[in-house]
Amino acid sequence: MIDVSQFNKIISVDKVGGVAHVECGVTIEQLWKMVVPLGYWLPVVPGTMYPTLGGCVAMNIHGKNNWRVGPIGEHIEELRLLTPSGEFVTCSRSANTDLFLKTVGGAGLLGCIVDLKMRLKKIHSGFLEMRSLSCGNLKECLETIDSLKESHHYVVGWLDCYARGDRLGRGIVHTANYLEEGHPLAGRGLRIEDQELPRWIFGIVPRKLIPKLVRPFASNLGMCLINRAKFFIDSYVVGKSYYQSHTGFNFLLDSVPNWKTVFLPGGLLQYQLFIPKKHAEEAFTRAIELQRELEVFSYLGVLKRHREDGFARSYSLNGFSLALDFAVNKRTATRLGTLCRRFDELIESYKGKVYLAKDSFGRIQVLRARLAQAATPAKT
Ligand SMILES: Cc1cc2nc3c(=O)[nH]c(=O)nc-3n(C[C@H](O)[C@H](O)[C@H](O)COP(=O)(O)OP(=O)(O)OC[C@H]3O[C@@H](n4cnc5c(N)ncnc54)[C@H](O)[C@@H]3O)c2cc1C
Repeated sequence: MIDVSQFNKIISVDKVGGVAHVECGVTIEQLWKMVVPLGYWLPVVPGTMYPTLGGCVAMNIHGKNNWRVGPIGEHIEELRLLTPSGEFVTCSRSANTDLFLKTVGGAGLLGCIVDLKMRLKKIHSGFLEMRSLSCGNLKECLETIDSLKESHHYVVGWLDCYARGDRLGRGIVHTANYLEEGHPLAGRGLRIEDQELPRWIFGIVPRKLIPKLVRPFASNLGMCLINRAKFFIDSYVVGKSYYQSHTGFNFLLDSVPNWKTVFLPGGLLQYQLFIPKKHAEEAFTRAIELQRELEVFSYLGVLKRHREDGFARSYSLNGFSLALDFAVNKRTATRLGTLCRRFDELIESYKGKVYLAKDSFGRIQVLRARLAQAATPAKT
């Protein structure tokens, strides 16, 4: 293991061309704080601002805009790799292309990304225009996300994994759009303090209390009630548009300090199934039914739309992903092992993919099948 936390310098930001040159240990948080006041945002971010850019490129992370802009690797102009032989190699789409396509998403197996240049996204405002839609079941969620993917910059679905019968897979689809130059909020929200994450809910409950308030509900019954309440509360406000900061929308969990303590003492396991579009409804229905059969329910289910990219070890495909968060404890540990194996089987039978950033449980066969793709020439 190499500790890259001291390689945390933002080397330069080209304010006109919108390209950031950073060392690998620079975090997403560091970079947005530097570029938002200049009128830029990161083209792709995960659900938290604490990862490093090197780590994000090594896993080729995706955001809630994967359909529109692809994974982070599509925005990397070039990177410098320190190979196991001690050589520094600069690679990009035009130089050492094969190495570039294998390093992005290569999980650090080919060497250490030392620094990189990334194209930024020009923004005219620190706010996004948000809208939500309520969907009565999984089919509706998938169709809604698919129908909005071209017209909206970000589309993501939240699923209530406890609902069953006709309501199985019901949820709320959230969309967000960048604001154009002439919008009344253009030029606003671009200070760092405008992007500080909200500390209060409805101005009365401090977010830091959320883990303590939620902990007593960290059981199937409690989480079933929370999911149900969230569905009905969110359904009430659907249709109305409102504005939210880039950080508030993208890094929701970061606004709840110590959110992971809800999952103590056993911690949290996330499994993300990537399934081709034509099989998504069938596979995700089965994934939700399996939870009921094994009595292990996901506290949080998140749906995203994806497309293919040309990277050699790509985990993406023309389809959907469903990310499921489970609490690990004495009751669930063994059942979760079984559930993950069943999810692996679903992925295999529907020709889906696994995402190594989320998979600490994978069977060696699934991993081998994934790495074997590296042997096939990559499409660019
Ligand atoms: C709350 C939360 C939400 C998330 N949301 C998303 C999401 O929406 N989309 C998504 O795609 N991912 C998401 N992730 C996963 C996360 O973005 C990735 O796991 C990311 O790779 C973590 O980066 P890191 O800097 O912490 O790297 P680490 O976890 O330290 O490393 C990740 C991998 O990258 C390799 N690596 C790290 N640095 C380098 C380097 N300089 N050179 C070569 N290899 C390197 C490591 O060897 C390791 O294999 C989320 C994670 C959390 C905790």
